[in-house]
Amino acid sequence: MPGKTTRLQNSRLATNQKLVDRYVRLYDYSLTEQITMRKINLENTIAAGKRTIKEINQKLILNLIREQQPISRVEIARQTQLQRSTVTIITNRLLQQQWICEGESGRYGGGRRPKNLYLNTNRFHVLGVEVSKDETILALADLNGKLLSREYMKTKVDDSRFFVHLGEKIQRFSKQSRSRTGIKVAGVGVGLPGYIEKTTGRIIAAENFGWMDVAAGDYLRKRFDLPIYFGNTAKLGAFAEMWFAESKNGSLHNFVYVTTRDGLGTGIVLNGEIYNGARDGAAEFGHFSLFPDGERCVCGNYGCWELYASDMATVKRYVLSLNGSERPPRGSSPLTIGKVIERAHRGDKAACEALQTTAKYLGLGITNLVFGLNPERVIVGDELVHAWDIIGEIICSTVQSRVPSYYADDLKITCSSIKEMPSLLGAIALVLANLFSFATNP
Ligand SMILES: [Zn+2]
Repeated sequence: MPGKTTRLQNSRLATNQKLVDRYVRLYDYSLTEQITMRKINLENTIAAGKRTIKEINQKLILNLIREQQPISRVEIARQTQLQRSTVTIITNRLLQQQWICEGESGRYGGGRRPKNLYLNTNRFHVLGVEVSKDETILALADLNGKLLSREYMKTKVDDSRFFVHLGEKIQRFSKQSRSRTGIKVAGVGVGLPGYIEKTTGRIIAAENFGWMDVAAGDYLRKRFDLPIYFGNTAKLGAFAEMWFAESKNGSLHNFVYVTTRDGLGTGIVLNGEIYNGARDGAAEFGHFSLFPDGERCVCGNYGCWELYASDMATVKRYVLSLNGSERPPRGSSPLTIGKVIERAHRGDKAACEALQTTAKYLGLGITNLVFGLNPERVIVGDELVHAWDIIGEIICSTVQSRVPSYYADDLKITCSSIKEMPSLLGAIALVLANLFSFATNP
């Protein structure tokens, strides 16, 4: 019966329509919700116009000259794959702006010698500052990072007065150096202790200094009108490794830098970049518990790594072994890690043992870093570099005996090749990085 068939057909059609609707819903769902593509954040990006491409190529060439000087135009064209005419235009502009200079060094196949290009290291000077517990160092450097002059000041507990004073000192230092040399200071890099916000220079917590929520950046910015960049001192130690030590040629991409100065800090380099974490607070491994029932740390945690392996811990251990108390005898000048190392080298058994115990604790902590980060290299920096003959082997053997061979086989644990003031050099590198590249790491 036609009516019945129609009803049946209609009912089938309706069912089919429901299926289609459902399918469409599923299809829509899969497009809009199930398969959502990761959004790319373009907030801080601008389209590359003629000017930006020009700027990028200019910085690329300037940085290549800085890294490989002396270098010829032909070599620049080969390495950058830019046309020779483009290289000529850019290098002429850089010569005109006095960023580079040229000379004739090196022979060239018996024929005409190509003119080599060098960085004009006196185009600008840069200023680095390292705030550490006992003293703060200010240093002027050229564009190759060569230190030209230094000044010291006592680091004070009263944070606001100290940073106001430091700001005034930076202003005076940069003005004096400009009037003496005639060369402008391009910027200031400041190494601050503890957990810091690197864009503002706010110290969120530096417990070893007794500083909590200190607007260090604001105090400094009010005192002078120069570009200023901030970094945590341990991360700046790692940054100095990338700029001035072995890894500067890009041979090391994944390493951990460990410093025992003013507590225990680390700088993690992952794929050639300093790892900062979501809010700049990454790499505070000094506050990882080595012993859960250990002493209470200033951070609030118990048995933190830095309580056993920092320079302060080594000095305390030495003093305790000498006179049965952690306090130095009355009237004696406070001992430093430098003095303990010096005494160990002169044959002081207690000093040597204090350092060897530190080495064992360093090895324990580094074992955790190796399991967690699988670095190619662990680099120990600052003062302990001068005690590597006493501690190096103990650190390495402690790690080797605790991690499986597939971690240990290619792992190298070394001391830094930077013998003095790594964080200060890192602060200088921070300004250089902003001059020669578009990166602001760390
Ligand atoms: Zn702690």
